[in-house]
Amino acid sequence: MLAKSLTLKHAQALDAADPLAGIADLFESKAGTIFMDANSIGPMPKTVRRQAEGLLDDWVNLRRRGWSNRDWLDMPSKLGDAIAPVIGAGPGDVVVCDSTTINQFKAVSHCLGVNAGRSVILSQNGNFPTDVHVLQALVEASGGHLSLRFVDSEEEAVAALDETVAVAALSHVDYRSGERWDMKRVTQAAHAKGALTVWDTSHSAGAVPVDLKGSRTDMAVGCGYKYLCTGPGGPAYIYARKDIADAVWPRLAGWMGHADVFGFTRDFVPHPGVKRFIAGTPAVAANELAKPILDIWPKIDPKKLWTKHKSLTDLLIALLDQECAPLGIEVTSPRDHGRRGGNVSFRSPGAGSVVEALIDQGVVSSFRKPDAIRFGVSPLVISHVDIHEAVMRLKRILAENIWQEPKYKKVSV
Ligand SMILES: *Cc1c(COP(=O)(O)O)cnc(C)c1O
Repeated sequence: MLAKSLTLKHAQALDAADPLAGIADLFESKAGTIFMDANSIGPMPKTVRRQAEGLLDDWVNLRRRGWSNRDWLDMPSKLGDAIAPVIGAGPGDVVVCDSTTINQFKAVSHCLGVNAGRSVILSQNGNFPTDVHVLQALVEASGGHLSLRFVDSEEEAVAALDETVAVAALSHVDYRSGERWDMKRVTQAAHAKGALTVWDTSHSAGAVPVDLKGSRTDMAVGCGYKYLCTGPGGPAYIYARKDIADAVWPRLAGWMGHADVFGFTRDFVPHPGVKRFIAGTPAVAANELAKPILDIWPKIDPKKLWTKHKSLTDLLIALLDQECAPLGIEVTSPRDHGRRGGNVSFRSPGAGSVVEALIDQGVVSSFRKPDAIRFGVSPLVISHVDIHEAVMRLKRILAENIWQEPKYKKVSV
């Protein structure tokens, strides 16, 4: 446990024992600014600029030969293999492509195909809207065959799983509260009833433990541009257990998911394994910006990453309690790290205005209606001293009522 009355010295001592020492140096930073919004766009690797220039050179000089002379076609698999260890997957289990929304469609529709006799999709009321919209559109298109069942908690989910459920499509971490569900427990409960699972790990991958293989989940999807650092709007990922991938055709079939991509045959033959979910041409430019992670994730021991995330967020919560609780801050994220996702959420008076004032003070975080502030903590770049500094700036904004200045009335997204 952390000692009472934490000081800057305490944070410095924790940094001196940083399990990811040196990793932050691989990323660009902005002097004086602490980015606590890794959940929206993760930090930028220093080699991205060179990578982008290289792409432009190839465009001018190679043109279509880029496809054969460069690894443009292989990037979905190469990027997938690079992030696989941090989500508990193996080589060849993951491809990086498209957006989370599109991959959610691919994954859920696939599981509906595998479990075609069943008619219920289980999800969370608090799931991220796009995930739910995909499910609603699948129901809408089913002509009355499918229906949705919503739950609010892990207990409710376990109780709601029965022989009618085809697939449970769940977020691993609640994007607002930061609460993390027990993927293994719910997956086991689903499998016991013959239901399949699709987990969205957007708010856990790259920050807290994710064990896709160990949990035996059937499929998973998640954002690349958050903690995984694939860049602004960067490609997402999709994971499938091999037996599930191979069980049926993908619902979104395309030539890049064909067993023989350049065979140009009329009839679709799905590629074995997860590669069948690559539908069309890879987004070469986006992948090029994502490419530096090929040299970063393989350097990271996932256990050290999670140890550091725990240390950072335990300190953050303790400091929020110590410094800001008397000013009206109430931590709403779980206090048990085993139940936390990448971000720490807390309630604050005037939350939207506080987030605006924080930006002016060099702390970038995010606001979620009605009164939640989220500090997304990327263990790759955030230090314990950053955590201390961010809380001190927040404290000042609250203590001196800076957030009530008229210029902070207008709240951006
Ligand atoms: C951020 C996020 C998304 C975003 O999906 P896009 O297709 O990238 O817009 C989806 N699901 C969850 C859980 C998210 O947190």
